[in-house]
Amino acid sequence: MIDFRSDTVTKPTAAMLDFMHTAPIGDDVFGEDPSINSLEQKTADLFGMEAGLFCPSGTMTNQLAIKTHTQAGDEVICDELSHIYQYEGGGIAFNAGCSVRLLQGNRGRITVEQVQAAINPDDVHKPISKLVSLENTCNRGGGSCYNFNDFQFIREVATANNLGLHLDGARLFNAIVYKNENPLEYGKVFDSISICLSKGLGAPVGSVLLGNKDFIKKARRWRKVFGGGMRQAGFLAAAGIYALDHHIDRLKDDHANALLIRDALERKDFVQNVFEVETNIVIASIHGKYTASSFVQALKEKNILVIAMSPILVRFVLHLDITETQVEETIEVIKNL
Ligand SMILES: *Cc1c(COP(=O)(O)O)cnc(C)c1O
Repeated sequence: MIDFRSDTVTKPTAAMLDFMHTAPIGDDVFGEDPSINSLEQKTADLFGMEAGLFCPSGTMTNQLAIKTHTQAGDEVICDELSHIYQYEGGGIAFNAGCSVRLLQGNRGRITVEQVQAAINPDDVHKPISKLVSLENTCNRGGGSCYNFNDFQFIREVATANNLGLHLDGARLFNAIVYKNENPLEYGKVFDSISICLSKGLGAPVGSVLLGNKDFIKKARRWRKVFGGGMRQAGFLAAAGIYALDHHIDRLKDDHANALLIRDALERKDFVQNVFEVETNIVIASIHGKYTASSFVQALKEKNILVIAMSPILVRFVLHLDITETQVEETIEVIKNL
C-alpha cells in the first residue's frame, strides 16, 4: 500500500529506532527524564523561546495552550477551518469553557483586519476576547502558508488588545522550509507554539508546546490534570530529537513530490481543480466520472490510499515513508484512471 492518507502514518526509521534504544530515561513527572528535558530545551532554543513541554499529541499541546491562555467564558478567535475547532472534539468548550469566534479566511489564513473586527468591546453582554489562534501550515487549507508579515500585523493588534497569540504549528517546519524562514522569528511573534513531531518529521508520537517559563509552568500543571503526565517517555522524546536533527531539510522532497502529484491530477478531466500546492498536501476537487469517494475507492483497488475530505474533495499527503518510486507508481495509476 502507498499511504497518502496522512503524514501521521510514518514509522520510525532504523536509525531513529537505534537512537531511541540508547536514550537515557527517567520519571518525567518528577522532571527527571533527561531525554524529555533535552527535547523540550532543544525545541525551545530552536525558536528562541524560554521553555517547552512534551505531550503525547498535538491536540493536547493546542488544548493546553488554550486552557492556559484563557478563563472559562472567554472567547477564542480563529479561522473556521482550524484544527482546534474542526478536529479536537469540541475541546475548546470542554477543556477551557470558551466560546469560539470563527472567521472565514483564505484557505485557513486570516487577516489582521478580520481579527481586529472580531474583538469584542468591553461590554457585559459579550464574552471576553482573549486568544487568537493561527495555523501554519493550514491543514484544511491544503498546506497553505502565511506570509510572515501577517503574523507581525496580528501580533500588534493582539498586544494592543491584551490577547494571547497561539500558533498551531503541527506542520510549521513545512512552512519554514517552503518559505525559507528563520524559526527564531516565530519565537518573537507568538506567545505559544505547538509543534508536532509525529507528522512530517516522522517521529512515532509527540508534540512540544513552547512558551515562556511561567506559561509552560502553568501548562505543565494542566497537562497533569489532563492525564498527560508521562513517566519514562524519553524513548519517545529521543525520536523527536532525532527527527529535529535529521528530518527537517528533507521536507523539501515531500514538497517536490506533492507538485508531481498535482501535475498528474491536473491532467485529468475528472479533476475540477487542485488547490495551490505550497507544501506536502495536495487537495483536489473531483467531478464527472468520479465522486471523491469513488475516486478514493478506485485508487484503493490499485493499492493507493488517500482520503475524501468532503463529497468532492480528496487529499494526498506526502511524507517520509513515500519514496520517489511510489510517487512515480501513483502518477502512472492516476494517468490510467
Ligand atoms: C495533526 C494536527 C494536529 C494535532 O493532531 P494530533 O493527532 O492530536 O497530534 C494539530 N493541528 C493540526 C493543524 C494538525 O494537522
